[in-house]
Amino acid sequence: MSDFIQLLPDHVANQIAAGEVVQRPASVIKELLENSIDAGAEHIQVVIKDAGKTLIQVVDDGKGMSLTDARMSFERHATSKIKSAEDLFSLKTKGFRGEALASIAAIAHVELKTKPEDEEVGTCIKIEGSSISSQEPCVTPKGTSLCVKNLFYNIPARRNFLKSDNVETRHIIDEFQRVALAHPHINFALHHNGSELFQLNATNYRQRITNIFGGKTNEKLVPVNEDTEIVKISGFVGKPEFAKRSRGEQFFFVNDRFIKSPYLNHAVVAAFEGLLKEKTYPSYFLYLQVDPKSIDINIHPTKTEIKFDDEHALYAMLRSAIKHSLGQFNVAPVLDFDR
Ligand code: ADP
Ligand code: MG
Repeated sequence: MSDFIQLLPDHVANQIAAGEVVQRPASVIKELLENSIDAGAEHIQVVIKDAGKTLIQVVDDGKGMSLTDARMSFERHATSKIKSAEDLFSLKTKGFRGEALASIAAIAHVELKTKPEDEEVGTCIKIEGSSISSQEPCVTPKGTSLCVKNLFYNIPARRNFLKSDNVETRHIIDEFQRVALAHPHINFALHHNGSELFQLNATNYRQRITNIFGGKTNEKLVPVNEDTEIVKISGFVGKPEFAKRSRGEQFFFVNDRFIKSPYLNHAVVAAFEGLLKEKTYPSYFLYLQVDPKSIDINIHPTKTEIKFDDEHALYAMLRSAIKHSLGQFNVAPVLDFDR
C-alpha cells in the first residue's frame, strides 16, 4: 500500500492558522496593537480605510526590530516572547504564539517598516503570498509601522463574509477601546477614512474610561478595590441607577488583557442583587491582577478566554468586593438584610 500523508507547505499551514486568528479587520487591529504594547510603545496610532478592508496601519514608537528579526517575525511559531514551555506559566506579554504576523501575511499584503533605537537606518519589507517580495533599507523613525492591505484578497469567501463598513468599524472600535482601557498610560489614536475617531492621551484609569465613554461617565463610577492573596481587584462599577438596557459597557481585564467571562459577570450581577431594575445591566470596568501561574490563557487562539485555578474563590472575592463598594458609596438600600 502506498503512503498518502505529507506535510503541508508553510503558506497553506499559515492560511489555515489565519482562519482562527483573523476573523475580520478588528482581529488584525487587536494583534497589531498587542505587538506594539509588547514592544514597549508609548504612542500607538491606528489608521484604517474602508473599515479596515482596504487598509489597516498601526504605527508605534516601541523598540523596533533588527533586519534579521524583521524577516523572522513573519515565520510561523517565531516569537521573541517565550523560549520554553515553562514560560507559558509566567506570561507577562500579550503575545506568545508567534503566529499573528505569519497568519496576517498569508491573507493580506503586508508592508513592514521598523528600526531599533540604536540603528541608523531601518528595514522595509513587503510580503505577498506569505513570502518576502522586497526588502530594502529605509529611513524611518524608531519603532514599527505595519501596513496590512487588501485583507482576505486571496480568500473570496472570507471577504464576502465581512459585514457592512459600519458593522466592521464597530468591531474595530470595540477592540481598540478594550486595548485602550487596559493601557491608560499609553497614548492611542484611531483614524478612519481621514477623520479622527479617537485621540487618547496617556492618563489614569478613571480618566481613560471617561475619555472613551463621555464626560458624564465620571459621576457614575464607584471605585472597587480589594487586595487579597490570590487576586488584586481594582477598577469601577457603574452606580445601579445608571444601569442600561444593553450590556454595552462591561469589561474584565486580567493582567491587563481584556477577557470574556460569563462566570465572573455573574459574580458582578450577584453583587448588584436587589439594586437593579428588571432587564437592566450594570456597567463595569474591572481590573484583576493574578499570579500568571494561576491562569491559563492558552485556550483559544484569540486569547479572550481564560482558565483560573480557583474560579470559585475569585467569584466570591469579586462579589464581596463590589458589594462592599456599593455599600460604602451608599447605593445599597437602607434595609439590607444581607449583611
Ligand atoms: P507573538 O506576538 O506571539 O510573539 P507575532 O507573530 O505577533 O507573535 O510577532 C512575532 C514577533 O515579531 C514578536 O515576537 C516580536 O518579536 C516581533 N514584533 C511584532 N510586532 C512588533 C512590533 N510592533 N515591534 C517590535 N517587534 C514586533
Ligand atoms: Mg503578537
